[in-house]
Amino acid sequence: MAIEKGNAVHESQSKPVVPRDIDPSKLKMTLSPSLSPIPPPTSLKFGEQHTDHMLVISYDPKTGWSDPEIKPYGNFEIDPMSSCFQYATNCFEGMKAYLGPNSHPLLFRPTMNMARLTSSVNRLSLPSFSTTAFLSLIKTLVLTEKRWIPRDPAGNALTGYSLYVRPTMIGTKSSLGVGPSDKAILYVICSPTGPFFPLETGLGNVPGYIKPVSLLAVSEHVRAWPGGTGAHKLALNYSPGFLTQKDASEKGYDQILWLRKEGEEEIIMEVGAMNFFVAVKRDDGDIDIITPPLDGTILPGVTRASILELAKSDSSLFSTKLHPSESQLTTAQLKQWSSSGKLLEIFGVGTAAIVAPIALIGFQQGEKITVPEYEQGIGPVASAIRTRILDIQEGRIEWDGWAVPC
Ligand SMILES: *Cc1c(COP(=O)(O)O)cnc(C)c1O
Repeated sequence: MAIEKGNAVHESQSKPVVPRDIDPSKLKMTLSPSLSPIPPPTSLKFGEQHTDHMLVISYDPKTGWSDPEIKPYGNFEIDPMSSCFQYATNCFEGMKAYLGPNSHPLLFRPTMNMARLTSSVNRLSLPSFSTTAFLSLIKTLVLTEKRWIPRDPAGNALTGYSLYVRPTMIGTKSSLGVGPSDKAILYVICSPTGPFFPLETGLGNVPGYIKPVSLLAVSEHVRAWPGGTGAHKLALNYSPGFLTQKDASEKGYDQILWLRKEGEEEIIMEVGAMNFFVAVKRDDGDIDIITPPLDGTILPGVTRASILELAKSDSSLFSTKLHPSESQLTTAQLKQWSSSGKLLEIFGVGTAAIVAPIALIGFQQGEKITVPEYEQGIGPVASAIRTRILDIQEGRIEWDGWAVPC
């Protein structure tokens, strides 16, 4: 900073320098001269297609947050020394934009994603920013990319299809020094998406059939641990699971059931990158739906929180009364419910899959837990929850302001 005479010196010395925050009014839009053709919805594979534009904002400790830019999707030029490459100073969010009844895009509880992003950014000691400003820019990007939200030939919304939105932050300080990155790029890319686990109509041609997935229970590799980073969406939480995932697929399983050993107990954590739920028959005829508590090892999912809230306060959700709870679950407990006939359903929940039914859990020693089979693949409790969440996300049912117009 230049030293000036008189008051200027006095003021700059007495006031801490507040770095410039993100300012949506400074948005610079550069639209792509050639837009990509929209692929047919049935051809979409999760996360493989990107849209025409991206939102980019960068932080420099000297100048603060740059003017935001929406510009054609393209490569970054980044120093090979950058913190993100060397020390994985990367975090992200996953949210979806749905086409509402009046063809206006809707985001689902986006302030929960913004709060979680803030906690991830703080955990990595990356530069902070106003998430209100950032969210308003995400809405502008979604409106810019609205034509990518999959629809039927008549132009109407297709249930189960949406635009996946991936806010990402990377540390770009050029230094091999092991320490916080005071430079960063915050960006958002979008990907059109359909049902995460492709719907199969083959099996008896049951309409709405959802193929349940199988899980390999794993405790040799641990996804998260007390005092670790499992409660944040940090990139470094996911890559160590790829080897485990590959091993599970080679053994014929779809996903991993992440466990954590505490003495003799195997504590249930998550399903791949989804939160775990079990539905259990109670002695009074009602149904308990139980998910592990947020003890620092569990990712605080927006879908998880929404299901707990709906099960608690929406009496029309299911024909039998549901009692939601957050309690620690062990594999011994699951096996006991299974052998006593109380185990009704197991499902994983998250933004990408919404609700994924689980048919089978296999253990390394060859032991198995099988979940009762349902004609639709998905059990009645998971199906009711999935339908209600989709109805709210796609704007057919209004619930507590959860669907937010762009
Ligand atoms: C993102 C994520 C979830 C699901 O969170 P949502 O907010 O519901 O999408 C669950 N577990 C892990 C490990 C995740 O990364």
